Amino acid sequence: MRSQDHDRIFLSPPHLGRHELNYVHKAIEDNWVAPVGPNLVGFEADICAAAGVAHCVALSSGTAALHLGLLLLGVGPGDEVLCPSFTFVATANAIRYCGATPVFVDSEATTWNLCPGHLREAIEDRLRRGRKPRALLLVHLYGMPAQLAEIGALAQEFDIPILEDAAEALGSTWQQQPLGSFGRVGVFSFNGNKILTTSGGGALVTQDPALAARARYLASQAKDPAPHYQHSEVGYNYGLSNILAGIGRGQMELLADRVKRRREIFRWYQEHLAALPGLAVAPAAELPGALSNRWLTTVLLAEPADLAAAGAPAATPETLRLALEARNVESRPLWKPMHLQPLFADAPMYGGAVCADLFARGLCLPSGTALTDSDLRRVAGALAEALR
Ligand SMILES: *Cc1c(COP(=O)(O)O)cnc(C)c1O
Repeated sequence: MRSQDHDRIFLSPPHLGRHELNYVHKAIEDNWVAPVGPNLVGFEADICAAAGVAHCVALSSGTAALHLGLLLLGVGPGDEVLCPSFTFVATANAIRYCGATPVFVDSEATTWNLCPGHLREAIEDRLRRGRKPRALLLVHLYGMPAQLAEIGALAQEFDIPILEDAAEALGSTWQQQPLGSFGRVGVFSFNGNKILTTSGGGALVTQDPALAARARYLASQAKDPAPHYQHSEVGYNYGLSNILAGIGRGQMELLADRVKRRREIFRWYQEHLAALPGLAVAPAAELPGALSNRWLTTVLLAEPADLAAAGAPAATPETLRLALEARNVESRPLWKPMHLQPLFADAPMYGGAVCADLFARGLCLPSGTALTDSDLRRVAGALAEALR
């Protein structure tokens, strides 16, 4: 941290607990500093328990887990994969790593995740063109569960396997069942900005022992069972170190606390920003049966005309971001939709107005679990000043 950062409020910084160092210490003491060891076994068991799945493979990143997840579902060159446009680029990049093409689908306004109506439209249109999507990459953005009932039914109707990108949704549930456990394969991220972190890391989860075994094999250079180094397939070096898994074990002890605190922060903002003209904490409501870990609290500005009607100045997410920055507070625009990215200009897109509008009007607020009430008041104060 630089010296001028001492009072900076970050968006979602790592928040360590008390036991991470014990696990790391033990790994070094016992010389388990390779991508095998007891911390990996323990970390994977902790994730299985938290996600309600039988198998977990700890990996070097969520992106690596997405890549392997797609390979496990048989995605290869020339295939198409359904994917929300409104996500972080890693989701769509993983499709490209396989030589496949993303087929982007718009969000719906309640959860900001995949819109079932546009999803049906996309599937039916691809089928008409003779291009059955090989997989559906389902994202739960900002921790909010997607419309799992409708999307699950569509996946079943058209027999398309789901890869669940729960990178932002560790600890979120749908009808009491953890997110990440609904797809044939699920993915978590332990990047530094996520609800729990190993500094960098990820995990792939599944109920299918054969898929888990294949993930392990692909993640460690795809070695054939022979004493010499023999390979019949392309493999990867995607393992997580036993040292980082030690950080993960310490972090996993904190999951319930961290979800509780993120949700408190969300409610704090909801309460304390309610009086601001033209600004709303959103997405506000969870679907019946859905519980979001509220990884990041996000806000939406009213349309410019409605802002004027509310007597608010002509604010944009960027003017708010700069006002927060002036108080040494970090905030960020929402994810810029993939169909608006130069990288994916040629990819098919179904709908697009909803996520483009969210991007145009939204901002992510500091949501780290170490935030104090005085930090939160500083954020709210800066927003109030900008909207006065
Ligand atoms: C963070 C994130 C990823 C990538 O995870 P890494 O561990 O950073 O590679 C993928 N998808 C989404 C939605 C994410 O937020």
